[in-house]
Amino acid sequence: MGLELRGISKSFGDQIVVKRLSLNIAEGELFVLLGASGSGKSTVLRLIAGLQDVDQGSIHHAGADITNTPTQKRNVGFVFQSYALFKHLTVEGNIEFALRLRNVAPDERAARVEELLELVGLIGLDSRYPHQLSGGQRQRVALARALAHRPQILLLDEPFAALDQKIRRNLRARLKMIQERLGITTILVTHDQEEAFELGTRVGIIERGILVEVGTAPELYHKPRTEFVANFIGGGNVLVGRSSAGAVRLGSSTLDLGASASQYSDGAPVRILFRPEHTTFGPVGTEPPPHSRVLGEGVMSAVHFSGATLRYHIELDPLQDLRPAIPALTYGQSGVSLQALAWSDSASGLPGVGKRVWVAASNFHLLQPSSLRILAMLNPRSSNNGVVQLAHYLGRATHGLLNFVSVVDDEHRVAVARKKISSELASVLSAAEIADKIHIRVGKARREIVREAQELLYDLVVLPSEDEHLLELCGALLTQVKCPVLLPQSERSSIKKILVCTRGGEPGKGDLRIGARIARHADAMVTVFHVASNDLSAERMDAVERHLEGAQATLRTLRLQHEVKIVRGPAIDRIRAEAADGKYDLVILGATPSADGSGSKSARTSALVNQLKIPMLLVHVVD
Ligand code: ADP
Ligand code: MG
Repeated sequence: MGLELRGISKSFGDQIVVKRLSLNIAEGELFVLLGASGSGKSTVLRLIAGLQDVDQGSIHHAGADITNTPTQKRNVGFVFQSYALFKHLTVEGNIEFALRLRNVAPDERAARVEELLELVGLIGLDSRYPHQLSGGQRQRVALARALAHRPQILLLDEPFAALDQKIRRNLRARLKMIQERLGITTILVTHDQEEAFELGTRVGIIERGILVEVGTAPELYHKPRTEFVANFIGGGNVLVGRSSAGAVRLGSSTLDLGASASQYSDGAPVRILFRPEHTTFGPVGTEPPPHSRVLGEGVMSAVHFSGATLRYHIELDPLQDLRPAIPALTYGQSGVSLQALAWSDSASGLPGVGKRVWVAASNFHLLQPSSLRILAMLNPRSSNNGVVQLAHYLGRATHGLLNFVSVVDDEHRVAVARKKISSELASVLSAAEIADKIHIRVGKARREIVREAQELLYDLVVLPSEDEHLLELCGALLTQVKCPVLLPQSERSSIKKILVCTRGGEPGKGDLRIGARIARHADAMVTVFHVASNDLSAERMDAVERHLEGAQATLRTLRLQHEVKIVRGPAIDRIRAEAADGKYDLVILGATPSADGSGSKSARTSALVNQLKIPMLLVHVVD
């Protein structure tokens, strides 16, 4: 009978901090929640402790629903990151505080304090004050205090974060010993991977309020499901190839997908992880080890000494049918960067910086197929043909996740809306899929769409072009969620030509990235289009040209068919003319949200949205 979180959510204002989080923790387990700062770890602990209320979902302990149980009755002990000891009380006073509150008799209190001091290894320090203790000792007192009333759940919020490395290691070992001895259900949150791996029976990775993956440390390290976890834990190299007849080409080798082959239709992206320690290399001309798979050749670009190991950075020559995902492609990069690791004492014969090397993978792991996450909004009152068709096409082409959402203003309209939408989707989805993929929300459209988009971290939201609040919805998604918005505008059942209107300079990169992503999946041709005003200075023109060269290099590396066009004149007119003549299926525009954050887009973008009857993708751009 452990602890169970069922789909809990928590927002502060407009920010959703914990998103439909579900988790089962066994009785007596030491579970570690690992995530970057701001990912929502402390909030999860506070929700479990009852220090804050959940907005949605429920919390169960030992089979009972404790969602609305006050903190004092939840039977939890809490240790915070900062030493929250009472400064004016001695160690003894601090530890017995909770017992006094519970009117425990003095004899019993004294006995319990002794017991706890022994447990945390502070015998004899009972009359000291917090300022007379070291940081590590203070946290041990905090732990003893949290345990004094014999809680059934122990919550530890980065308890060692403020201490130095050596003391941390010590305290970790002690904590693990104590936790095992007491068999108390424990959740510790940390941003420190080493700590998480050493302590947790299982580790959960939390990212922007979403529990991304849960597993034992070796599972998460050796067999992560997602690119995010592969990168967050351990780092390394992820290359993406395309499946073809149950295999994927990996440089000079072919990788048989084996049992996983059924997960991939032909042409679907396959993500291949190989850790730095499984990346081998040697001077060109020498033989790679047997059983390793040779990726190709490249140049050793850097070597870093880190004690026991050396870290190598290798720039591989461009690889056929493979694109790099991790380390992320830098703008304008043409080759593939890889990381390798070797024991520093066995590295004397290895090639140094500047040398040509072959690179091979001695071991690898396939990540779960992942792709665009698309949310399509359906209007409960008018026809959604355009949205359904385009979203369905994109979902299929990208092997992506596609969900539908609709907003009604009253609970009574939910059933009718569901029925209408189900019948509209019947042509593209099965009944079971429909039930699973439609979410009807009640409330104001703008607020609910923003929430839906935030909760499941979509890459793209498709909005019905006919919606009367279209511009407002666009603006809210672009500013609050920073999520690209796709407007179908007309019916399209495939995308073969994409026009990316880029402004040049930093802001333009977002447009190109999403355009390239769609083009890659849809196998479309990309036209990078820039309109320069007639009075542009030579200096600015140089910057624009450099930007466009970078764009070209990126598209080349991604192996996309592409062209670059620069024209002069008024932007709206030139874009409109190009879009009309070029027979494009999709126009991508950077939209600058208006300053107050509420409005939609610049006048220029609005004008184009009104005039072009081609699917348009608006991407958040900051000037
Ligand atoms: P972590 O512990 O992983 O660093 P937190 O749970 O403390 O993350 O916070 C997650 C996010 O929620 C942060 O962006 C933080 O600003 C916000 N947040 C947390 N508590 C509050 C609060 N009481 N009011 C407003 N925002 C909050
Ligand atoms: Mg925190």
